[in-house]
Amino acid sequence: MKYQVIIIGGGPAGYTAAETAGKAGLSVLLIEKNSLGGVCLNEGCIPTKTLLYSAKTYDSARHAAKYGIVVPETFADVPKIIARKNKVVRKLVLGIKAKLTACNVKIAPGEAFIINKNTVRCADETFECDNLLICTGSETIIPSIYGIEGVDYWTHREALNCTEIPKTMVVVGGGVIGMEFAAYFNSMGSQVTVIEMQDEILGGMDKELSALLRAEYGKRGVKFLLSTSVTQLSQDAQGITVTCQSGETEQLILADKLLMSVGRRPVTQGFGLENLGLKLTERNHPVVTNKMETSQPGVYVCGDLTGFSLLAHTAVREAEVAIHTILGKDDVMSYSAIPGVIYTNPEFAGVGATEESLKAKGDSYKCIKIPMAYSGRFVAENEGVNGWCKVIVSDDNVILGAHVLGNPASEIITLAGMAIEQQLTVSQWMRIVVPHPTVGEIFREALATL
Ligand SMILES: Cc1cc2nc3c(=O)[nH]c(=O)nc-3n(C[C@H](O)[C@H](O)[C@H](O)COP(=O)(O)OP(=O)(O)OC[C@H]3O[C@@H](n4cnc5c(N)ncnc54)[C@H](O)[C@@H]3O)c2cc1C
Repeated sequence: MKYQVIIIGGGPAGYTAAETAGKAGLSVLLIEKNSLGGVCLNEGCIPTKTLLYSAKTYDSARHAAKYGIVVPETFADVPKIIARKNKVVRKLVLGIKAKLTACNVKIAPGEAFIINKNTVRCADETFECDNLLICTGSETIIPSIYGIEGVDYWTHREALNCTEIPKTMVVVGGGVIGMEFAAYFNSMGSQVTVIEMQDEILGGMDKELSALLRAEYGKRGVKFLLSTSVTQLSQDAQGITVTCQSGETEQLILADKLLMSVGRRPVTQGFGLENLGLKLTERNHPVVTNKMETSQPGVYVCGDLTGFSLLAHTAVREAEVAIHTILGKDDVMSYSAIPGVIYTNPEFAGVGATEESLKAKGDSYKCIKIPMAYSGRFVAENEGVNGWCKVIVSDDNVILGAHVLGNPASEIITLAGMAIEQQLTVSQWMRIVVPHPTVGEIFREALATL
C-alpha cells in the first residue's frame, strides 16, 4: 500500500507528525518498534517527572511544619511510587494511541528498515510512500571506562524501576538527567555522589544559578566532584568501586549503585539510513533545513535525530514544521527560544542566551538579577527558601535570555520564551498584564529595576 507519509518512530516527533498529518487528511503510516510515546513517555520526561513529583510530595510532607501543618509520620512507599509511575505512563501511551486512531493514522508495530526514500520494510511487509519522515530519536551513551563491562551499572531505565532505594549511589554525569536522578534519590534517602568532568554541573545552563542549585543540594547531603573523571570501575561483594581522578588526585568511592548519565546520541544505525545517501554533519546527523528537509527531496528528519537540542518540546515543534512543509504551508523552525528545565526541587529553567554564551561571542549585554522574594506568591509558597531570577537584555533593551532558580520555574519560563521568540523589548513586555499574585510576576519585577 502507498501512503502520503510514512513516519519511522513513535516518540514526540513521530506521534506529533502523525497526528498533524492525519488531521490534515493525509494518509499516514507510523512505524514503532517498541512502545508509542518513545523515550519521552515510556522512559524519559514523563516517568522521571512522576517520580520527582512523589519526591517533592515527600519533601513537602516532611517540611510541612514550616507551613503550620503537622504531619506526625512520613514514609515513602517506593513500590507504590513506581507502580503509580507505570500507571501514568500506561494512561498517556493509551491517550496517544487513541488520538492517532481518531486521526486515521495507521500504526505498524515493528522495526522499520529503509530500502529507499519511497520504500520502507517492516516485519514482512513493504510499504511505499511519497514522503518519508524519520524520527528514530536518541540512545544513552555508555563511555568506555576501564572495567565497565564487569560492573552492573544502571542507566535511567533501571533507575526508573528501582523499588529498593540504595544506601549509597554514584551518578556519573551532572547533566540534566544525572541531576534529576540525584535529586530523586537524595529525597528518597540515598547518599548520592555526583561526578562531573566539567567545572560545573548542567553545562549550557546559566553557570551562576547552576552553582547555586549545586550548593542547595550540597546542603542536603549530595556530594559533588567537579572537574573529575571516572578512570576505572570494579565490583565485588562490597559494592561498586569507582576510581576517579581530579588533576593529580585519585579517589576511590564505594557505592551500592552506579548510574551512568553522561549524555545521549542520535540513533542513526541499523535501519537503512545509509541507503538514502543523505548529507550528514560532521557528527553524523542528517543535515536539515529550517523546514526539516534533508538533502533528499521528500525525506524529512525531526526530533533527537537532528542532534539539535535532544528535548521533547523541540521534537514536537520540528514535527509540526515538517508536516506543514509537506502540506505546502509556510512554516519554519526557530531554535532561538527553546527552554531548558531541570525538574529538581527547586526547579531551574532557562531560555535564550546565557551570560556565558554572550561573553563567548563577545556580545555586550545588560543583566538584571533579583531574588525570587520579589514575587509575593513565591514568598507565600516558599517558606525559608530563596531563589533567583536573571533577565538578560541587549544594549537596546531587546530581551535575550531569562534564567530562573525557584519553583515553578518550569511553568513561568514560557513567558520569557515568548518574549524572546517575539524579540520583544523591555517596554513591549512590560505592557503585557500578568495575573497577581503569580510567580510569573517576577519578570515584570526584574524589568522594572532596569
Ligand atoms: C531520563 C530522561 C529524561 C528526560 N526528560 C526530559 C524532559 O523532562 N523534557 C524534555 O523535553 N526531554 C526530556 N528527555 C528527552 C526526550 O525524551 C527526548 O528529547 C524525546 O523523547 C525525543 O523525541 P523523539 O521523537 O525524537 O525520539 P524518541 O522519543 O527517542 O522516539 C523515537 C522512537 O523511535 C523508535 N524507533 C527507533 N528506530 C526505529 C525503527 N527502525 N523502527 C521503528 N521504530 C523505531 C523508538 O523505539 C522510539 O520509540 C528525557 C530523556 C531521558 C532519557
